[in-house]
Amino acid sequence: MGAVSKWTSLILILQAFLALPSSSKPEELAHIPVNFLNFAKRPEVFDWMVGIRRKIHENPELGFEEFETSKLIRAELDRMGIFYKYPFAETGIVGYVGTGSPPFVAIRADMDALAMQELVEWEHKSKVPGKMHACGHDAHVSMLLGAAKILQEHRYELQGTVVLVFQPAEEGGGGAKKMIDNGALEHVEAIFGLHVSAAHPIGAVASRSGPLLAASGMFEAVISGKGGHAAIPHHTIDPILAASSAIISLQHLISREADPLDSQVVTVATFEGGGALNVIPDSVSIGGTFRAFSKESFIQLEYRIEEVITKQASVQRCNATVTFNANDQKPFYPVTLNDKDLHEHFQKVARHMLGDHNVLEMQPSMGAEDFSFYAEVIPGYFFYIGMKNETKGKFKRGHSPYFMVNEDALPYGAALHASLVTKYLLENKPKPNLPKAVSFRDEL
Ligand SMILES: [Zn+2]
Ligand SMILES: [Zn+2]
Repeated sequence: MGAVSKWTSLILILQAFLALPSSSKPEELAHIPVNFLNFAKRPEVFDWMVGIRRKIHENPELGFEEFETSKLIRAELDRMGIFYKYPFAETGIVGYVGTGSPPFVAIRADMDALAMQELVEWEHKSKVPGKMHACGHDAHVSMLLGAAKILQEHRYELQGTVVLVFQPAEEGGGGAKKMIDNGALEHVEAIFGLHVSAAHPIGAVASRSGPLLAASGMFEAVISGKGGHAAIPHHTIDPILAASSAIISLQHLISREADPLDSQVVTVATFEGGGALNVIPDSVSIGGTFRAFSKESFIQLEYRIEEVITKQASVQRCNATVTFNANDQKPFYPVTLNDKDLHEHFQKVARHMLGDHNVLEMQPSMGAEDFSFYAEVIPGYFFYIGMKNETKGKFKRGHSPYFMVNEDALPYGAALHASLVTKYLLENKPKPNLPKAVSFRDEL
């Protein structure tokens, strides 16, 4: 080792030691969540977060096309002096705050909007026809930047490194999977994610240990027969009847084959075929989604959906082809599984910040989240952050064209993100016999 690198190592080790909050007393540490919330509620911080959220809301971008959103995030990280790597998965960004040394713990936001028209008339309505932030991902980005600001402000108190994950394409594109494939979770040992919720009151959070959201898949089928005159059915092979039989039989997969205590769903959501009232069409397309809470049940459903459609079609003398969305463009989403230890950690932190009565236990839901990809690889924890406030009107649930974000939730999201990881690092300090002080750029 040359003289220069010896000095570099010494300086970095000293920096790591200086980063330890040796002056922080336990009672001060207990107040971290409340202090962070107060910080996030400061008018200048709150207004800044609101401004970011509204700017993103006005310019919604679909999955893997979040170029302007990504640019905006990078500009804010630059302004805060936060080091980041870019791009991951086209538009994704991974930022780093703290010592640059282990442990590494991540917080995540999704950036994409939905292909739908906003019907809310307000000053910051979407300026892009047919695109809208109707799931609150604009708020998620703003919250994560808010957390970045809190963490950067307290960077010398961090006992490790916080990884800020801004990902594309949560809405069906599996952006999380691509982020992982691109190395976003390198060194990371745990990850937290959140979602705004119109079902829970403002100032409250909700989640559970274990399975939270279902595994999700989509299927499409084309059932082909032989078209002809509707009044001469015996000269045709009717794909409408075959598709109808298949749909009825698909319902039996849940009602007759699945364990009633093992929640599953099969929904046929599209049925397209025919164009005239007196013509039997050549073919019919159907499609839908299936959900399950275990890998085994999910795989069984996939297998049986294909079998039921093709065999029911053949009973009616038709042919059927079934395709699933399990490809790189639209992967199956796994079950979102919340880690038990992270659940306890979350409850402790959230109770400190919000009070016991505002930390709610929730039932699992058949919805799906691509956060599940992270939680499949490392311990992960996903939770909901309340927006409901009757005095401010009725907040619609996600994917409604009337969806609105209660911006009062922004400080809660920012402060929870920041508190969860700060406390995580304090409680998961690296072993003293493993000093590993390296610079960001060397380590990452
Ligand atoms: Zn959504
Ligand atoms: Zn969402």
